[in-house]
Amino acid sequence: MSDHCPECGAAWADGRTCADDFHQLLFWENERPELGEVHHLMVLCYHLQHPSLYSAEGLAHARRLLADFVAGGLSPAEVRQRQRAAVDSGQRGWSITGRPGNHGAYERPPLWTMRAQDVVAVGIERYSDSVRRWAADVYDALEMGSQNG
Ligand SMILES: [Zn+2]
Repeated sequence: MSDHCPECGAAWADGRTCADDFHQLLFWENERPELGEVHHLMVLCYHLQHPSLYSAEGLAHARRLLADFVAGGLSPAEVRQRQRAAVDSGQRGWSITGRPGNHGAYERPPLWTMRAQDVVAVGIERYSDSVRRWAADVYDALEMGSQNG
């Protein structure tokens, strides 16, 4: 049995879904704590490729976060510090996650070149490198989409 992910377009072989791949990646990070160094990128990439998991505001926020990490070169600690400042000043009165009536979506679906299943296929030995490549790919695809739109 094979099907396609309605969100990222990945081909699901033998009933294996993107959520299964996401859990595999989380499992690897749990097995090898040093892989947690790219956890923030992995979670962002997965969710950006499945935008309905976000609210509309959450999706916009996540895109800015990815830009901060990939283009801005910020560390998770630096981003957390900035977010704390934003929360303290009451700027975040919205929810990150999708809920009925408010799901993130792209006007034009970006052309993804790499997905969770590709990171799984590369394997645990090169996990950190592939997640960094995944983040760069997702960032490029999103940039390309916003230039065309
Ligand atoms: Zn998917």
